[in-house]
Amino acid sequence: MNIDHLLQAAKDAGQHRARPLASNFKVGAALEFTNGAILSGGNTEDRGKTVVGACAERNVLAAANNQMGPLSEYGIGGTVGWRRAAVWANTPGPITPCGICRDYMAATAVSPGAEVLSQCEGPSRSGFTIGELLPLAGRGPGGDVKEEIESWRLSGGRITQLPSSASDYLIARAMGAAGRSYRPPFSNEPISGAALLTENGQMHEGFLVIDATTRLGGTAISMAVRNALVGPVENTSRVVAVGLFTYGDVLRAPTGCDLQLLQEIRSKHGDVDVMFGCNTCAYKTTLDALLPHPFGRNDLGY
Ligand SMILES: [Zn+2]
Repeated sequence: MNIDHLLQAAKDAGQHRARPLASNFKVGAALEFTNGAILSGGNTEDRGKTVVGACAERNVLAAANNQMGPLSEYGIGGTVGWRRAAVWANTPGPITPCGICRDYMAATAVSPGAEVLSQCEGPSRSGFTIGELLPLAGRGPGGDVKEEIESWRLSGGRITQLPSSASDYLIARAMGAAGRSYRPPFSNEPISGAALLTENGQMHEGFLVIDATTRLGGTAISMAVRNALVGPVENTSRVVAVGLFTYGDVLRAPTGCDLQLLQEIRSKHGDVDVMFGCNTCAYKTTLDALLPHPFGRNDLGY
């Protein structure tokens, strides 16, 4: 299928099948899979509870998994992966997938080079690879990002190794918070903690919380953000740095979900430093590097 047809399929889904009952923000996605199939769909929302429903991209991937799957994970196993995606939104400019969708899209893409194209009400288009949109997706065993860091750095990724796993104060605080993690016995989610520093010098900690449905609670970073939001989100209480610590020797970067949330309360005056480490190593980079071309309020006209 040529690219114009794929973009048209995304537009049709966004205009006719999206049900954004709470936000009226219409999005359609069309994905081309390795077996040649094209699946498309729109975003869905309950009228009063936006937490019910999902973005167009994830709705299509969930349908693909159930109709043709299982989807392969990072190009391994499964029966199909996606190789090209088109997104349409009723916005003035083209949007990019949110951090949550980038996680799922990176996991189910045939390779990091899989293309994501975007179109909107206006004439402009944008195009990226999923590897560009989420450079440290966690393609290694258990979500390990060590090999991805090396290849990212070779291609110009802005990241430096810290001298030891707890050499940064924020990571040390995150390590302390990790011990309070709460999860059901069946969960494989690694024990982790986070610490946020805001412009007014306040520190907010968080740790992994998972309930029995595995849908509530949150990652260490998302729980730290909730703690930060207890106070007013003035310019002076916006996040300027974050540390993430994960127990064990598997190094994990903040998820796309975490990066999306940080994007919402980031400093308006500059980038956000992001440090993450495990028991054996630690690295430092920035939010702009980990989540380039983010989707945010500006795209919706706020
Ligand atoms: Zn999304």
